[in-house]
Amino acid sequence: MKACVLDQPGPVESSPLLLRELPVPQPGEREVLVRVHSCGICRTDLHVVEGELAPKKARIIPGHQIVGAVERAGPNATRYRVGTRVGVPWLHKTDGTCTYCRSGRENLCDHPEFTGYTVDGGYAEYAVAPEDFVYPIPDGFADLQAAPLLCAGIIGFRCLRVSGIGEGGKLGIYGFGAAGHVCLQVARHWGCKIFVCTREEKHRRLALELGAIWAGAGADDPPEKLDASIIFAPAGELVPPALAALSKGGTLVLGGIHMSPIPSFPYPMIYGERSIRSVANNTREDGHDFMKLAAEIPIHTEVQIFPLDEANHALQALKHDGIRGGGVLKV
Ligand SMILES: [Zn+2]
Ligand SMILES: [Zn+2]
Repeated sequence: MKACVLDQPGPVESSPLLLRELPVPQPGEREVLVRVHSCGICRTDLHVVEGELAPKKARIIPGHQIVGAVERAGPNATRYRVGTRVGVPWLHKTDGTCTYCRSGRENLCDHPEFTGYTVDGGYAEYAVAPEDFVYPIPDGFADLQAAPLLCAGIIGFRCLRVSGIGEGGKLGIYGFGAAGHVCLQVARHWGCKIFVCTREEKHRRLALELGAIWAGAGADDPPEKLDASIIFAPAGELVPPALAALSKGGTLVLGGIHMSPIPSFPYPMIYGERSIRSVANNTREDGHDFMKLAAEIPIHTEVQIFPLDEANHALQALKHDGIRGGGVLKV
């Protein structure tokens, strides 16, 4: 099979992903082999490729927003028939036995596996995944449009859940890429008023087209105090201004896996029972609930399509804010 392989992390500008011919992986016990149709690119892929996340595997195929069809089932894998369209997400597997897994918090598992980071992912023609950790893709979504749902969508949904935002609430979104543009649609469906801060003009335009009531550049103050905000941009310097824009009792959710250092700020900015919390991965329950809701709303993803052999180029575009909505590799 063709696959984009990372031997050594490096700046995406140096095109560290190499297109290679590799053997098709074999599905193990209770795993499925998926023929990849599309794979979304995610900022986490950029952190893996550039080495901001410490390498976990010597040679890795990135990609954790995989849409494809079950090609073959491994031993004792009975959940999906051959040909079923499934999505393979970031949470590849958990141990199922640690205190976190046993208390409904498998997103915090002590011994997790992550697709495209600790095990090979979807920048390839085939990938394997445990059948219990893949999601059926609702029929209404085309392969390319479904890909951004699998990480950007699910993580954005978890961020919304933990933000505590409800009907009619005022929500801030900082950074407006794949996750932001899906999250906005869910929040609108819930009747929230949405304020978007993002430095790129074209991203502000998309936010307004999708129904944000205000869109400004990163450092601008939203015109009203917000009940909750989510920062998707990996920029710690956004934390103090985002806190300053929160109402008393408001929650600031940090949605990324990596963020530059957060500057210090005076205590009154967080006093008044404001809180800051991060989101780490997601549970399968988040994933299933989100996929169902995405089909009901239905979510429309904006995608920019790249061929598999242009994965380096796609990540360069992502790094430089050049992608409207989500970037997707067509495999
Ligand atoms: Zn666990
Ligand atoms: Zn991701």
